[in-house]
Amino acid sequence: MRWIMEFFQSVFEAIFGYCRHSNLSRPFTIEGQTYKVCMDCSQQVFYSRDTMLPLSRRELRHLRAEQAAAAVSIMPATAEAREAVIGRAHKTAAA
Ligand SMILES: [Zn+2]
Repeated sequence: MRWIMEFFQSVFEAIFGYCRHSNLSRPFTIEGQTYKVCMDCSQQVFYSRDTMLPLSRRELRHLRAEQAAAAVSIMPATAEAREAVIGRAHKTAAA
């Protein structure tokens, strides 16, 4: 019987993006992300700060894509180009 419950739990999570347990913590925001934590399975349920509703799978994908794009920085490929960029930064800082 337990595997049946686990099966339905995984189907629910696949559809809605979060577990169906109701024993959740209070919402809190850390590093710009608002979420509750399930006290039964420790899953994070991300919330919108505007609507205070759980994010859909699509909204969560969009949020993660934005965070990944913000984490990307472009660096020059060669050491000479890197030194030129650093030298340019020092010149603008000194000016
Ligand atoms: Zn849960």
